[in-house]
Amino acid sequence: MDTILFLAHTEADGSLAKPALEALGAARSLADALGGSLAVGLLGSAVQAAADAVSSCGAARFLGVAGAEFGHSRYATDAAAAEALCKASGAAYIVAAGTSRWSRTLPGVSARLGGRVDTHITGLTAGDGVAVTRWYYRQRMEAVLTRSERPWTILLDPGSQTPWSGSAGTARIEMLSVPISPELTRTAVTGLRAPSAEEQTIRPDADLLFVAGAGWTKTQADGAAHTAEAAALIKDFLRKSRASLGSSKSLVDQSSEGHSVLPFMTHLNQVGQTGATPRHPKGLSTCCHGEEPHTVGWRFVSERRAVNLDPNCGWARGKADVLYVADAFQVMAKVNALLGG
Ligand SMILES: Cc1cc2nc3c(=O)[nH]c(=O)nc-3n(C[C@H](O)[C@H](O)[C@H](O)COP(=O)(O)OP(=O)(O)OC[C@H]3O[C@@H](n4cnc5c(N)ncnc54)[C@H](O)[C@@H]3O)c2cc1C
Repeated sequence: MDTILFLAHTEADGSLAKPALEALGAARSLADALGGSLAVGLLGSAVQAAADAVSSCGAARFLGVAGAEFGHSRYATDAAAAEALCKASGAAYIVAAGTSRWSRTLPGVSARLGGRVDTHITGLTAGDGVAVTRWYYRQRMEAVLTRSERPWTILLDPGSQTPWSGSAGTARIEMLSVPISPELTRTAVTGLRAPSAEEQTIRPDADLLFVAGAGWTKTQADGAAHTAEAAALIKDFLRKSRASLGSSKSLVDQSSEGHSVLPFMTHLNQVGQTGATPRHPKGLSTCCHGEEPHTVGWRFVSERRAVNLDPNCGWARGKADVLYVADAFQVMAKVNALLGG
């Protein structure tokens, strides 16, 4: 009987984030489909609260590595802990969320285990053997992969799975001891710098992706550009809706060309062929033409709407479910008013 290990790192508050719960849901389903045994492996400064939160997932074993040195992301300590958890579980399949922390650690751990790893996995099935799916060529082609090597480490793209949910209880954890040699802590973690929640415009868990295109900074009907007004309208909408902010390439590229820009927009916001492919249930595009290199980044946005002055823009050609032929300045001012204070 194969063992399927769900591997997770805890967050700063000791909880498991949504991507981890998605990986647990997928690991649980895989164990059920294979008639295998589920094990939970947890890493963090403390892991009891996280184990308790998922104690009803039906795992045969809960394994843990805990301590201050494992509370933050660092390759050496994360890899040592993950290696110990994988070895102790004897798992044939290791399922984890494709967080930045695991994405940089687990490929190395897989090499240490003599196994194989696949990243950016969006589907996991066990029919005629286990198969995973992932997208290639900027989300244009989907491939189904199988592997004979074990252990097989599978990193799931956050947002692609249904999160596990169940009642909390008390889990009995087998704690593993991972010796902290000086080599493991050669890299000292001195702190974390991140924008405040208010300044943070990229919100992967948001229900709505709001995309701003270069039109926001272009000359308008009155012969002038209104960049400051555009920035105010967009910020007001983001504050009220808690939407995630995306951009077209043209808009973020303008800063390097010395044009007037939206100050809170960076290349990290860019959606498309050379940008991100975020997953949100809904998307609203404004002042963006909807060209293919941009809309290819909308692959996983289920319901799409766009506001553009041009009735022949790219969105009108089958790229959006609804196109509002309208002035985005007027539309967003009205939307903000409707959203209220
Ligand atoms: C190899 C390659 C890779 C690329 N990768 C990407 C990528 O990853 N992401 C990406 O976005 N692009 C990418 N591009 C560029 C892409 O082809 C387009 O040039 C870009 O998306 C256009 O941006 P835009 O629609 O914001 O600007 P524009 O084409 O300038 O369109 C502005 C739009 O705003 C509208 N508008 C203006 N004022 C208003 C108003 N008041 N109300 C409503 N609408 C208004 C106009 O009608 C117009 O349609 C790539 C191109 C290449 C060649």
